[in-house]
Amino acid sequence: KRRIAVMTSGGDAPGMNGAVRAVVRMSIAQGCEAYAVYEGYEGLVQGGDMIREMKWDDVRGFLSEGGTMIGTARCMSFKERWGRLKAAKNMVVKGIDALIVCGGDGSLTGADLFRSEWPSLMDELVEKKELTAEQVEPFKHLNIVGMVGSIDNDMAMTDATIGCYSSLDRICESVDWIDATAESHQRAFVVEVMGRHCGWLALMAGISCGADFVVIPENPPSGNWEEEMCKVIKKHRDLGKRKTIVIVAEGAIDTNLKKIPCTVIKDLLTNKLHLDTRITTLGHTQRGGSPCAYDRMLATLQGAEAVKAVLEATPSTPSPVISIVENKIVRKPLLEAVKQTQEVAKAIEAKDFARAMSLRDAEFTE
Ligand code: ATP
Repeated sequence: KRRIAVMTSGGDAPGMNGAVRAVVRMSIAQGCEAYAVYEGYEGLVQGGDMIREMKWDDVRGFLSEGGTMIGTARCMSFKERWGRLKAAKNMVVKGIDALIVCGGDGSLTGADLFRSEWPSLMDELVEKKELTAEQVEPFKHLNIVGMVGSIDNDMAMTDATIGCYSSLDRICESVDWIDATAESHQRAFVVEVMGRHCGWLALMAGISCGADFVVIPENPPSGNWEEEMCKVIKKHRDLGKRKTIVIVAEGAIDTNLKKIPCTVIKDLLTNKLHLDTRITTLGHTQRGGSPCAYDRMLATLQGAEAVKAVLEATPSTPSPVISIVENKIVRKPLLEAVKQTQEVAKAIEAKDFARAMSLRDAEFTE
């Protein structure tokens, strides 16, 4: 029986459990055996009990659970060849030749590197007498399939990543709660949301909550933005609005790439507009709680597709990442998606914000 392993890696995201459940059950339904790698690449490097067979019942109840129940970790040793050598040995020992990774661009880069190195890792294991030639013989190729789990919705070539809509829901709920108290006291709130290089959460939360001003890293406020922001907010107040909400992505920067802390915005609203202003950092509550219906659906459909992709893969097929484009589950070349994603960060670093925005635009409207 073919053995397929699934892992979650990088930052946790609601819906990852649904992805694990779908991979496990689809694998079994297709006549394969399913394995879960616990704690991301750390489990792959450690091996033993960290790589466990999963039966149908083992993932019961996973769909509605937040976070990732098989754990996730940042693993330094997998970035080193010796770590990947250990990981390869552990996979052969368990009889696994296909790995489905649900994570961010770092995790998917690592997975692709692992696949490209695989034949040389097998040779090295035989050379070092860690395994025999007979043992590695059936493991000539490693199959890798990626799924994107990230609350930031920061991956190119997919409209949505697993977790982003749950996180957006959580942010909206929180801003609604803040709204009530802000309105009662006529206060202003500067709300910091997650998103290091990606302003999707901030921008969509701004639209969904009717914020007065939004600050995102791809399109930093330029010129005399301080005055412009105050003007907009004053106008809203003059029109009778009793509350002010400014949403700031955690990666917010100015055009010189200097971080814009929430305190700077708070001081502007306090000193220039004389508004009683508070800062609320939503923090890790944005990652918590049970996944919304969209993320459960996305994770389930993509998990099933990931198993199909494993079963249809050939040694020459580039590793795919499972995406959703215009509401259809599709496969995209994993390396290409990672490369395009990194282009946005590079454009921001080069202060080419027009390019950063057009890359994001292409992504969201693809
Ligand atoms: P997030 O978007 O939530 O940060 P991510 O998958 O990008 O998720 P990373 O911390 O970049 O998160 O990567 C997770 C793990 O993947 C790392 O701890 C490491 O084990 C592995 N990894 C990342 N990049 C590489 C790489 N270039 N080569 C090998 N392994 C890597």
